[in-house]
Amino acid sequence: MSSEEPSTRRRVILKLSGEALRETGSRDNISPEIVDRIANEVKEAMKTGEVELGIVVGGGNFWRGASASARGMDRATADYVGMLATVMNSLALQGALEHKGVPCVVQSAIEMKNVAETFIRRKAAKQLDDGKVVIFAAGTGSPFFSTDTTAALRASEMGAHQVLKATMVDGVYDSDPKKNADAKRFDRVSFQECISRQFKVMDSTAFSLCMDNKIPIVIFDLGKHGNVTEAILGADVGTVVDSQG
Ligand code: UDP
Repeated sequence: MSSEEPSTRRRVILKLSGEALRETGSRDNISPEIVDRIANEVKEAMKTGEVELGIVVGGGNFWRGASASARGMDRATADYVGMLATVMNSLALQGALEHKGVPCVVQSAIEMKNVAETFIRRKAAKQLDDGKVVIFAAGTGSPFFSTDTTAALRASEMGAHQVLKATMVDGVYDSDPKKNADAKRFDRVSFQECISRQFKVMDSTAFSLCMDNKIPIVIFDLGKHGNVTEAILGADVGTVVDSQG
């Protein structure tokens, strides 16, 4: 089946922020225990045979291009460093998934033949068809983008039904819930509102791409055990961002 044809199974792209792989307060950028927990949750979902899963991992636990650029580094160079950081996270996740017997491949947008396949859209679509978890590493392969945008892009290319953004909050709020006790949480909100009110939970390029390609986004709390499995299987675990809102 080509990626243009609708899949009979639910096909989703899970976005994990790099920061989520780090234990709070730890000096280690990647916590093997956290990676193991996420891999367990992915395994639970894949066991059902009901889902095709792509994963985009960020790199913020190691490096963010914009922060390095604000401190004087050339932005494009800093962004390439950031993209390489996502490859380390992707390999860690792949290792944990394979250890649990979950078939898994890493496709990198920057060629790195010794550690990952090079991203080829049709190949990735076939691997998803075949029930493999495909981890999309090295972002879009271009500087000035984010891994949120990568998730939206890969979801569009792969004909995914949803983008699942696992993050540190349990949904979209109208202001920062950590700073404002009266912050209002949305069960459902439109792309337009997220973009016009500049909600920071995801970047505007990612929202726009999903809006244009009619791919709903679910924003949910990675910290709650079981949420990753539930989100992959389509349960109501967070705020839905879509055209209706
Ligand atoms: N990045 C990039 N192009 C992309 C994706 C990522 O240049 O298509 C770089 C950018 O510097 C970014 C870093 O990789 O800051 C890590 O990604 P991101 O900040 O999205 O990671 P997260 O915040 O999700 O951990």
